[in-house]
Amino acid sequence: MDDAQKHEILRAYEFRKQWPPYTYREHIDVTPELLKEYTNFLENTENKSGKVMELQPWVTFCDSRCTFCYYPSSIFRPELVEPYLEALKRELKMYSETRYVKTSEFDEIVLGGGTPSVLSAEQMIDIIEFCKRNFNISDDSMIQVPA
Ligand code: SF4
Repeated sequence: MDDAQKHEILRAYEFRKQWPPYTYREHIDVTPELLKEYTNFLENTENKSGKVMELQPWVTFCDSRCTFCYYPSSIFRPELVEPYLEALKRELKMYSETRYVKTSEFDEIVLGGGTPSVLSAEQMIDIIEFCKRNFNISDDSMIQVPA
């Protein structure tokens, strides 16, 4: 193996070591000032990037906690699912009404997690249909439900 190959392997390892990016591991304190800045950005900015986006409502329940996992998930408790889904819809609705999101197009809906397959088929369909009603979803959009 030459130096270039070794370098490539190390680079690939470093990249995956931080995977997925921008999730819990990079979590920073949300100060009132930071939240205000973020909210102002969403409320007052038109998305002119021209890029289609991915909408990822998260289902933060798992059957058990994997020791290596740094996702913000918790153990599945059936009685928490409906209140969680109602709160998730309220938050999705809040984002959907901002200028930035209104001027964005989404070509993927990904139920993230956690383990979204802990939901019933009806609950998954309900969240996906909610997203379709409230966001600009492309006609040829893709829907993913990781197990
Ligand atoms: S999100 Fe995935 S890796 Fe993390 S605890 Fe749940 S099943 Fe395990």
